[in-house]
Amino acid sequence: MKKIGQRLGVTKVTMDLPLWVDKINCFLFRGEDGWDILDTGIYTPGAMETWKEVFRKLRINPLDVRQIILTHDHVDHFGAAGELQKLTRAPVKMMFQENSLVFLKDWLKEILDEDNVFNYFGLPKELKEKAIREKITQFESWAPSTPDIEEIRDQETILLGREHYQILKFSGHCPNQLCFYHPELEVFFAGDVLVTPNHLNSTTQEPLTEYFNTLELLQKKKIDYLIPSHGKPFTRVRIRIGLIAEYRKQQLAALKEYLAKESTVYQAYLFLGSSGRALSDLFFGLAEVYYFLEYLVRQGDLKRVTTKDCFYYQDLKGGEQK
Ligand SMILES: [Zn+2]
Repeated sequence: MKKIGQRLGVTKVTMDLPLWVDKINCFLFRGEDGWDILDTGIYTPGAMETWKEVFRKLRINPLDVRQIILTHDHVDHFGAAGELQKLTRAPVKMMFQENSLVFLKDWLKEILDEDNVFNYFGLPKELKEKAIREKITQFESWAPSTPDIEEIRDQETILLGREHYQILKFSGHCPNQLCFYHPELEVFFAGDVLVTPNHLNSTTQEPLTEYFNTLELLQKKKIDYLIPSHGKPFTRVRIRIGLIAEYRKQQLAALKEYLAKESTVYQAYLFLGSSGRALSDLFFGLAEVYYFLEYLVRQGDLKRVTTKDCFYYQDLKGGEQK
């Protein structure tokens, strides 16, 4: 990374995370007349200290930050953006959509009393309320302020530091993941598109289908050096993609086998979790299992029966009750 970093004028800033991944890589790009930041980490007083320390070390006046770019709307990437914007007065730019997780606090509150799919996962009432309250509390501390956001929807290239990058968009991990590609060097700032274990956390209808499409698109892309938001950079990108696709297929196969018996989303989540194949985070883990199940319904492998307050899934042969 050091050599490429020097060539591109980019410094990696690694921040701690209190999540199932314990670190995130943010980046600072040095330009002729200022600096660009890619991703901010979540907000904690310690994280802000880390940013200030990095600014001191690199002799950056916070007001010389030209822009803060966010790869996507997951809290580990944008949580500190509001506070960092106050410090630098720089524009914060990202892809934007309705129901953006930047506003997760608001729609989490709605889930508690509205007709949201989350209410159909078969989660015991107290556990559901606990899971949502916990997320609200986490979000209030991890993203205490919401930045003013500039949309970069139609932009095809971007100057980061002193180099031009193509802006590429992928969905699956989230609806609109921004990646930055340097065509001559074939260097790819990938955000979370190829992080393992990757998780799907999306507000679109078919995240898993989109995710498999993304893997296919990336297989075709000439990438010499991939720099992810979590973990170390790597070169053998096609092999990594193959491993990720295989892991997903194994999860789906395990679920299909399990669903000879009727199951709720919550039961399927507990089943996958018991073999370490679901996220430990209940809220995001449930959402991911729900996407798997819906994917299998669309593939014609399962059927879903909706009662007044729950979804039940089962394979097409099944009639056996649990
Ligand atoms: Zn992430």
